[in-house]
Amino acid sequence: MEDLPEKKKIRALGLLSGGLDSMLAAAVLRDQGIDVELITFVTPFYGAERAKESAARLGLPHRAVDIYEKFLPLIYTPPHGFGRGHNPCIDCHILMLLEAGAVMEAEGFDFLFTGEVLGQRPMSQHRGALSLVARESGYPDLVLRPLSAKNLPPTRPELLGWVDREKLLAISGRSRKRQMSLAPQFGITKYPAPAGGCLLTDPGYATRLKELLAHQPQVARKDLELLKWGRHFRLPGGAKAIVGRTHQENEAILALKTADDLILKVLEIPGPLVLLPENAADEDVQTAAALAAAYSDAPEGVEATVAVQWEGGETGFIHLTTPPKERFKDLMI
Ligand code: SF4
Repeated sequence: MEDLPEKKKIRALGLLSGGLDSMLAAAVLRDQGIDVELITFVTPFYGAERAKESAARLGLPHRAVDIYEKFLPLIYTPPHGFGRGHNPCIDCHILMLLEAGAVMEAEGFDFLFTGEVLGQRPMSQHRGALSLVARESGYPDLVLRPLSAKNLPPTRPELLGWVDREKLLAISGRSRKRQMSLAPQFGITKYPAPAGGCLLTDPGYATRLKELLAHQPQVARKDLELLKWGRHFRLPGGAKAIVGRTHQENEAILALKTADDLILKVLEIPGPLVLLPENAADEDVQTAAALAAAYSDAPEGVEATVAVQWEGGETGFIHLTTPPKERFKDLMI
């Protein structure tokens, strides 16, 4: 007897943030017998650690893809604007779906899905925004939102019967109670807390980023990474000094230092490491040295010596009287 052709298995590629919503969206489709794979897009503002753990808990294949170069223009002038912080969420979603769509086409996936919930985020997850994002990504009828599907018009995977719409969900709004009560039914017993995702929504990071962009029209990845560490001061000569707060921060700042950056540190007294960019004016080197002393354990008013590691590794010394921290209050970003 002739073998019947094997029924094609439907393959879906899902955007995974690693939070409960995207985990649940993946599990809802997986439990319908769909072959689910997951993708997380990485930028300096958003890593994939949380997503990797969540994908492992789900037992689903996962990949992380860095989209820094493509994302960078969005921190300047995103066509659809910023949210409350410096988060261009609508354009970010469009970009992520566009990139996921390219993978879908290249690797033979049938459709895309996300863990978005209608009305959960006022700016980027209202009905109009969800449809705009799908449309502008270039895949208007191939983006399924399993958690809110029954509140949204049917997509192609539902219309063609690839997905059973009846088994999809009708969640909407900001509360996560429904997702939390459903999670155990889908075998999800552990998931990360909702907060702690994208740095662009963090008010402190957003303030520093806006300040940086106001002073420096072109930023490098290193500048964005440095915004994560230490106290930041804009000095009178225009340079920015970064002062480590802990040993871990000192190490992180040192790891991001380029050959021409200056490093300052008080001699013989425990204290922070201060990073100053190359070409800083003499006036700013003096201020950075005073900062190094002020934030060290040196008592106020006591003589201190600050070692300055210049470009090329030469070391110089600045002798000063340790000033009070308050003197730099107005320079702090
Ligand atoms: S919160 Fe950050 S990662 Fe998430 S959509 Fe907005 S900009 Fe993108």
